[in-house]
Amino acid sequence: MTQETGGFAALGLNPNIVAAVMATGYEEPSAIQQQSIPIILDGHDMIGQAQTGTGKTAAFALPILNRIDVSKREPQALILAPTRELALQVATAFETYAKQTPGVNVVAVYGGAPMGPQLRAIRNGAQIVVATPGRLCDHLRRDEKVLSTVQHLVLDEADEMLKLGFMDDLEVIFEALPPTRQTVLFSATLPSSIRSIAERHLRDPKHVKIQSKTQTVTAIDQAHLMVHADQKIAAVLRLLEVEEFDALIAFVRTKQATLDLAAALEAKGYKAAALNGDIAQNQRERVIESLKDGRLDIVVATDVAARGLDVPRITHVFNVDMPYDPESYVHRIGRTGRAGREGRALLLVTPRERRMLQVIERVTGQKVAEARLPGPQAVLDARIKKLTASLAPLVAEAEASHGELFDRLTASLECTPRALASALLRKATNGQPLDLASVEREQPLVPTNAPRGERTERGDRPERAERSDRGDRERRAPMPLAEGRVRCRTALGARDGIAAKNLLGAILNEGGLARDAIGRIQVRDSFSLVELPEDGLERLLTKLKDTRVAGKQLKLRRYRED
Ligand code: ADP
Ligand code: MG
Repeated sequence: MTQETGGFAALGLNPNIVAAVMATGYEEPSAIQQQSIPIILDGHDMIGQAQTGTGKTAAFALPILNRIDVSKREPQALILAPTRELALQVATAFETYAKQTPGVNVVAVYGGAPMGPQLRAIRNGAQIVVATPGRLCDHLRRDEKVLSTVQHLVLDEADEMLKLGFMDDLEVIFEALPPTRQTVLFSATLPSSIRSIAERHLRDPKHVKIQSKTQTVTAIDQAHLMVHADQKIAAVLRLLEVEEFDALIAFVRTKQATLDLAAALEAKGYKAAALNGDIAQNQRERVIESLKDGRLDIVVATDVAARGLDVPRITHVFNVDMPYDPESYVHRIGRTGRAGREGRALLLVTPRERRMLQVIERVTGQKVAEARLPGPQAVLDARIKKLTASLAPLVAEAEASHGELFDRLTASLECTPRALASALLRKATNGQPLDLASVEREQPLVPTNAPRGERTERGDRPERAERSDRGDRERRAPMPLAEGRVRCRTALGARDGIAAKNLLGAILNEGGLARDAIGRIQVRDSFSLVELPEDGLERLLTKLKDTRVAGKQLKLRRYRED
């Protein structure tokens, strides 16, 4: 494949597995993978300690897969995970890594699903069984021999399993496995209960610990933003409007992501390029040279591809995807603030990555403050500032070369200088929205300050709000309010050019509410009604005191029906 297969291939994994790993977009083993894979391949017992998000699944799944004999259609590896979700995740990971290894069968075994099909899948030749301890014990009670061929046992998230009270189940499972098996234990922490399991059930285990060293990063101004995964590109585009950067490096996890983001940036007119392991060395050097001399302003890179990249112009690092470990976070943001200059680092965090953020804060010994996506007013101010800056040098001298033409045009168009200047401005800015109402109408971004469901149905809510608004205009009678909600009124309505989604966007952006907190929005001709949570209403209304929508003051007030 590419010159980048080196990392995984050098660990002793067979080519089919390396190829599948490359196909998922991983470029290089993470620290825990680097250290664990050779040990597990060698058949040793092992205790691996590393934080969430460090890549532990592949650290055991790849070598175990490597050790499976596909010609034998019987359980050979058993992975225990604390929850159904984690068991499914691990099973899916195995399937992904086995894509180019024919004959591998994986079965996930967990509670809440019928037992029969699970047992049949095990007996029908699954070599890899991923299970929660409770359900697996149920199976053992039906058939105590079902695990008698298992040669490799992995306890994933062992500390979590103990917290969930699986100690006794684990003992039952240990008893049901051949004593000659290999046992590997992964845990974020190693309390005494885990050490005691290890003493009793592991043989001469090797220890792998990924140290989280405290590292200080002083000259860099750091902040994080909560966003949903599918809104990352939109968030980056928004942030770039207001961040005053010279050169910027954006880090993502996969090759595909480098391409996607670089393409989105180019489409918006930024001088951007992707940098990933698929790009030939000489081309990579050209990209870095271009970033140095200003032909490029933004490079979107994976960690591997950015290795050794040292460009003093870089003022900003965007961590668009979470780094694998705190060390690589420190490493990434160290790309800015070079030579004693000020740097700025932004980290996008999806709701399920909150814990990694805490780890980063602990390791760097610094709080990474929460930032908000800039609202329409900030975006507009930034655009006008940029326009002003680009015109300033011309104002000083363009009149000499173009003044006469201007006079001639006002005469022949029979217009005021202001009318002509406005036309030229519109042309020069390529129709970019430069008044508040138009900026507000641009896709409003939904900030995610409160947790909500993992998959978002972005854009779904405004549509729904508009739909219900149409219905309400016909019906007229006020709809009953949901528990804990009150109705608020603004004097802005359809005749002010307001749509439900403008109101929703403004309240979300300025009020810092979770989307779910906002109920129906009804836009009438001369006013609108919005359902808001009663709890904290005063505070919310104060926050929204100066909010403008479509250029007009929102002035939201509680509305009493009687
Ligand atoms: P942990 O179990 O340590 O919490 P996971 O194994 O769930 O971490 O991995 C976290 C994320 O990182 C997953 O999305 C996984 O696909 C990704 N990942 C793991 N190893 C690599 C790698 N070497 N390169 C790129 N992404 C990786
Ligand atoms: Mg894990």
